[in-house]
Amino acid sequence: MEIAQLVLGGRRTASLEGKTFEVIEPAMDRPFYEVAEADVEDVDNAVQLAYQTFEQGSWSRLSATARGRVLLKAATLIRERLEQLAVLEARNAGKPIRDARDEVGLAANVFEYWGGAANKIFGETIPVQDAGLEVTLREPVGVCALITPWNFPLVIASWKIAPALACGNTVVVKPAQLTPLTTLALADILMEAGLPEGVISVLPGPGAKVGNALVSHPLVAKVSFTGSTEVGSNIMRLCADNITRVSLELGGKAANIVFDDADVQRCINASVYAVFGNCGQDCCARSRILVQRSIYEQFTEQFAARTALLRVGQPLDEQSEVGPLISAGQRRRAQDYLALGQREGARVVAGGAVPPDAGGGYFLQPAVLAGVDNGMRVAQEEIFGPVVCIIPFESEEEAIRLANDTPYGLSGSVWTQNLGRALRVAKAVRAGVLSVNSNHSVHTEAPFGGYKRSGFGREMGMHAAQLYTEVKSIFFSEE
Ligand code: NDP
Repeated sequence: MEIAQLVLGGRRTASLEGKTFEVIEPAMDRPFYEVAEADVEDVDNAVQLAYQTFEQGSWSRLSATARGRVLLKAATLIRERLEQLAVLEARNAGKPIRDARDEVGLAANVFEYWGGAANKIFGETIPVQDAGLEVTLREPVGVCALITPWNFPLVIASWKIAPALACGNTVVVKPAQLTPLTTLALADILMEAGLPEGVISVLPGPGAKVGNALVSHPLVAKVSFTGSTEVGSNIMRLCADNITRVSLELGGKAANIVFDDADVQRCINASVYAVFGNCGQDCCARSRILVQRSIYEQFTEQFAARTALLRVGQPLDEQSEVGPLISAGQRRRAQDYLALGQREGARVVAGGAVPPDAGGGYFLQPAVLAGVDNGMRVAQEEIFGPVVCIIPFESEEEAIRLANDTPYGLSGSVWTQNLGRALRVAKAVRAGVLSVNSNHSVHTEAPFGGYKRSGFGREMGMHAAQLYTEVKSIFFSEE
């Protein structure tokens, strides 16, 4: 089996102890790569190297335009290798190949955006009362620890790596152990694009050990994490010890609010993908559909029928729309929630079974739960699998109340032809990213992040530059 080595300062190398672990293909339940497993000493090495490189200035003091050119070149190389990267991502994360291609394209867009943005991150001149000139500089923070999950491995790594590098930082990336392959490949691409030695390391290994050591390292200036709320909370606590800057993108339980004047057919066609895309393993999954009572029965029936048409299949099959879950454990979790929902009084009106031709893969037919009350655990907790709850509401006020009745606040949608109502509801929902008559909430150029227990900090768009820069203010006296 092929061995993927870790990346230390841009070079592929074995871990210090020489340990490896197996990466599984979730559609097959079989190993297809061996990957170097980092340990605490590897973390220390990578952080020390990133710190020295930052101080020495080969990247941090390079002109912003030159940094941008490296990122633009990386975008070109990602596009040139789109198919190769998409196949790797599809097999490792169990994604339908068409989605994997889109995601690789998105990663290229992100590098292109930050390639252009690098020399547009600048300070201000401020009219102070004292005689002189007050200016601010935006400076890189230093070594950034970037910890990513398994659901969108390449895309989320790009969201963090591209702005961190554009701002002049050095980075140590800890990909999820289940899906490290495309992040390792991305580091190779960045080196080929001209990134100096020492700027990037990628350390696969168990989060509880490698991630923990990385977050706690005193030379790390900034931590950016995407993953579960529980681990995010733990990371925030660890960051407190060294006053390390931290941003967190955590779970979600998005409400997809459908009023009775909505274009129901368009809404249903979009909404099946908004919850079952990536097999429901998406922090923005529209996993609660709130439907106005007058159209509830009709909507539920049509939504269930549309769900049953989704093509569940092998990731490399061009026709597949839904692949397997990432692991046997994640499928068990979705099945347990389905059973819980029924015990709580909900009805399964579509899906929920393991398809007969699943083989060893972790497949599950997308499932629709009807008759759900928002107080049920299935409506409150993040399932992170192919399960949707359809919940009735009477009025605009009730829709807003139910949408906000969750510990999370990442994303949401409103479907209505009434513009005033769309605006009122979008403003009233306590979430970071809303969409109207659409479920699109992720755009390379726009800020993305959560309220409440979904975390804080805004990735993407120029807002992300705030995560990866310090503001220095300098006063020049006239006297
Ligand atoms: P985790 O939060 O455990 O994993 C996310 C990342 O954090 C991985 O790289 C993981 O490493 C790392 N990590 C784990 N423990 C620590 C730690 N103590 N210190 C530092 N880093 C750590 O998510 P899971 O994979 O366990 O998924 C569980 C649930 O989390 C899902 O069912 C879902 O609800 C939610 N989730 C949300 C995501 C989102 O996009 N917001 C993404 C993924 C999960 P490793 O995997 O190598 O151990």
